[in-house]
Amino acid sequence: MEIRIDGDEVLKLASSLVKIPSENPPGNECDLADFLESKMREIGFKVSRYDFKPGRPNIIGELGSGREGRLIYDGHLDTVPAGNPDLWIERDPFSGRIIDGKLYGRGSADMKASIAAFLSAAEAVADEIEGKILVFLVSDEEVSGMGTNDILSRGYRADMAVVGEPTGLDVMIAHKGGVKWRLLTFGRSAHSSSPERGINAIYQMAEACLEIRRLSERLRMRRNSLLDHPSISLNTIKGGEKDNVVPSLCEASIDRRLVLGENVEDAESELKNILEGIKRRDKEFRYRLERYRYVPPSMTSPDAKIVRVMREAVKEVMGVEPKISGFTATCEMVHLVNHGIQTVIFGPGRIEQAHEINEYADVSEIVRAAEIYAHLILKASRRE
Ligand SMILES: [Zn+2]
Repeated sequence: MEIRIDGDEVLKLASSLVKIPSENPPGNECDLADFLESKMREIGFKVSRYDFKPGRPNIIGELGSGREGRLIYDGHLDTVPAGNPDLWIERDPFSGRIIDGKLYGRGSADMKASIAAFLSAAEAVADEIEGKILVFLVSDEEVSGMGTNDILSRGYRADMAVVGEPTGLDVMIAHKGGVKWRLLTFGRSAHSSSPERGINAIYQMAEACLEIRRLSERLRMRRNSLLDHPSISLNTIKGGEKDNVVPSLCEASIDRRLVLGENVEDAESELKNILEGIKRRDKEFRYRLERYRYVPPSMTSPDAKIVRVMREAVKEVMGVEPKISGFTATCEMVHLVNHGIQTVIFGPGRIEQAHEINEYADVSEIVRAAEIYAHLILKASRRE
């Protein structure tokens, strides 16, 4: 069937979403949620909204005539912080301007263009939907990543789902997992005119840093066909009390990404072995490792119906078979898969663009994504 999408309208909506900041931290999704809630009502969605944490809205939209949920679109309202505005094109991370075929702004690729594309698609085919489609728009994806889980725990379900993260219009059927730890090293303070009287917690952390860097090089050698390789990165460090005191405490955060087949226990013992190794050669090395976040990797079978209809929808619009691959970041797909819902990741923009200064999404991809989503909605909503 002929699907008519007004490209200018899609881009206008995407640009409006970028103009409403929703940086997290601090986590201020309310203005964007207000805007989207009324947009969704205008399209004809039945909308429910509740705070999943104080001041952090989750939105559920339902569209279609039937009772049964056929497809969930999952998107997040928040973005990472914009960083220094002076580094951005036109010194404005929220300009939402289109320059040389690119929509610029924090959240353009991750993932406001995708939300605009899906809502425009839903609007275009609203009268043709059999059964019902659901749209989840969640808060706090960039920090806790638990918004989708919360909606699912309230009983919302569908046969299949698409998470609108930026995939450059590839169909992604798996994503990496992630573990975060806090590593503390403990020393003994002393006057720094006599450093030999103390134990320097920063020197101890420095030993750990070098070992973690070596581990990172080893992890690069482990390949996974869908998800490239696992990784580890030490990302923040703080330590020391005063410039004339030997530091007694140093704290770092470590981010380990997992590929399919890896689990958190193995990743943690691998890291602990390294720290124990330092302890064996340095009797004064004392540490504590605290895990504070864990998202497992997940996957949907390439034979699942969602993969088939997603591929068909892409082929319909692009004329070629899409690439099937994996998403190298973590995302909320895992909650959908854990609730038995077959899921793919698909959206405009590139993951390499997300979280960067001068984040953008190609306007041609945004419009294409809307056309593809429209085909997807029709294919997914039909029972065969
Ligand atoms: Zn994202």
